Amino acid sequence: MIRHDFRSDTVTKPDAAMRAAMAAAEVGDDVFGDDPSVNALEQRMAEMLGKDAALFVPTGTQSNLLALMSHCGRGDEFIAGQNAHCYKYEAGGAAVLGSIQPQPIAHQPDGTMALADIEAAIKAGDNHFATTRVIALENTFGGRVLPMHYMQSVAALARKHDLGLHLDGARAFNACVALGVAIKDFAAPFDTVSICLSKGLGAPVGSVLVGRAALIETARRHRKMLGGGMRQAGLLAAAGLYALDHHVDRLADDHRRAHVLAEGLARHEALQVSSPQTNIVWVDMDTQIGAQLSSHLADHGIGVTGRYGQQRWVTHLDIDDADVAIALDVVGKFFAGREH
Ligand SMILES: *Cc1c(COP(=O)(O)O)cnc(C)c1O
Repeated sequence: MIRHDFRSDTVTKPDAAMRAAMAAAEVGDDVFGDDPSVNALEQRMAEMLGKDAALFVPTGTQSNLLALMSHCGRGDEFIAGQNAHCYKYEAGGAAVLGSIQPQPIAHQPDGTMALADIEAAIKAGDNHFATTRVIALENTFGGRVLPMHYMQSVAALARKHDLGLHLDGARAFNACVALGVAIKDFAAPFDTVSICLSKGLGAPVGSVLVGRAALIETARRHRKMLGGGMRQAGLLAAAGLYALDHHVDRLADDHRRAHVLAEGLARHEALQVSSPQTNIVWVDMDTQIGAQLSSHLADHGIGVTGRYGQQRWVTHLDIDDADVAIALDVVGKFFAGREH
């Protein structure tokens, strides 16, 4: 059984106070627009991000799909990173359900896509090509933060070519806390932004798509089509509102703990630890050692994700200083016999 769960920030469970907020939520039928808690969450997110409107949806995957389907029609194209969630980790939904063709772009070592690579991939004005409609960025990307000036440069490029710009901001608040910028400034370059409430913010369910009015209106129609129109969803929106009140500033604690964890792991020569910028620590190692370490961790109730040569450790609301200390102790004991 996993007792110290570093697999993902999605594993957080609502605590008593969040559950109390959910139980007390005023609700109505959200498909009729009648749910006051959903309406409050959507309005609040739109205001926070400085956008016209917002839409509460079940998952980040659906939120990204709705964004792409709002920017693109059948046979259009979106540009995204080769390892972007909306390209690689959403079961091809944009192609399958939206008839939208992806144009993946290689990543630079810092996680960005080179502007020249993006520009070279933009297609228009020729019957041979799908029509490029939107560029999708992701921030944070594998826990790394793309800087503001990069996002602004991509926005300028999108404007120059009359393209939309979407942000998969599943962990946008982690990026804002790391950069020390307001979410409104962070969101400013984008037409649409998707944010997960169910990751570091600690809500059990839900994402919000925020953006320009016409795009969100189209997304609302597509949400119904895809089966994402929920009824008394205020129970879930209330958890999101609670998370916005109580769980944003504390993301800094997760980042601090990721640092402590990374420093502790890096003391072992066999582990190559990349310095975390937010709440995700990547650790590379020899595959054989990795296999043994992973099973040693599992035996001691510590959950991590990754294949044997690479592990991903994520800090979150349900990981405290003691969990980090215990994990480092367990790793230390694993190496104690092997290092001289
Ligand atoms: C988790 C995640 C999503 C999708 O969220 P789900 O709610 O799991 O569908 C999208 N993009 C990124 C970058 C994510 O980390």
